[in-house]
Amino acid sequence: MGKLLIVGTVAFDAIETPFGKTDKILGGAATFIALAASHYRTDSAIVSVVGDDFPKKYLEGFRQRGIDTSGIEVVPGGKTFFWKGRYHNDLNMRDTLATELNVLADFKPVVPGAHRSADILMLGNLHPDIQLSVIDQMEDRPKLTVLDTMNYWMDHTPDELARVIGKVDVITINDEEARQLSGEYSLVRAAKAIHQMGPRYVVIKKGENGALLFHDGQIFFAPALPLEEIFDPTGAGDTFAGGFTGYLAQTKNISFNNLRNAVIHGSNLASFCVERFGTERLTHLNRQEIDERLDRFRELTQFDIEVK
Ligand code: AMP
Repeated sequence: MGKLLIVGTVAFDAIETPFGKTDKILGGAATFIALAASHYRTDSAIVSVVGDDFPKKYLEGFRQRGIDTSGIEVVPGGKTFFWKGRYHNDLNMRDTLATELNVLADFKPVVPGAHRSADILMLGNLHPDIQLSVIDQMEDRPKLTVLDTMNYWMDHTPDELARVIGKVDVITINDEEARQLSGEYSLVRAAKAIHQMGPRYVVIKKGENGALLFHDGQIFFAPALPLEEIFDPTGAGDTFAGGFTGYLAQTKNISFNNLRNAVIHGSNLASFCVERFGTERLTHLNRQEIDERLDRFRELTQFDIEVK
């Protein structure tokens, strides 16, 4: 069982989709990552910050799923990070209606001693300086450091982002972000350009069109499972990252071949995430459902063509 350290937001989200809307519910990148990873045998911990308005039952919920919360700082009198978004009829499009940083604005992460030797470090989408600070606090270089980021940091903190990208082994970003980061339209060229910036592995997520893993001139493609029910895409990218790193921490194998499996595990968990609002589906998910869907992934992609 490998140690997985997760850094990212633990938040309140308010979400509107064409199918309904929520008041403040549990959200945040680290939340989705950790809940997804909790479906694997890992020793995982979150580094984050919340205000004292954050319900204790959520922290207890993390602990019940084996997630160490000692690295989640609770700021007395502080307010938890809040994000509000509205999806269009095309669920690939969303507008951010509110981002209230609150306690995140002055967050100085402190990695608890026991987690400074994690095997896998998962840097969820956050200010690159916070991500860098966590990298610097690690005692040994983790076997694998994975970075998730977004276009906001490319626009606002490009130099800091470049420094983080230079220090990680894997980057996961979506296709438009890969194009923006590299200045290349072709995703093959974009991945090549991003390799030059540091990461040996580049994962490009294409939403309902699947995900690509690039490494050393090789490409692996995982489809997204065609789903009957798509309700709320919030957190799908983070859930992918949680399935990806949770599986790698469990198997303790970071070969290219196993990273290919990890992309399938990430895509599999993301397919559940979108079926309900927020974290609901991830928290009511069992091993059998996960395994059945892995089988569907296999069926979807297997074919038998003889190439002469
Ligand atoms: P995703 O749908 O994968 O982009 O992730 C959605 C999650 O990211 C939500 O639960 C939000 O709380 C969180 N989030 C939204 N905006 C930001 C931001 N600027 N920095 C960090 N986390 C954010």
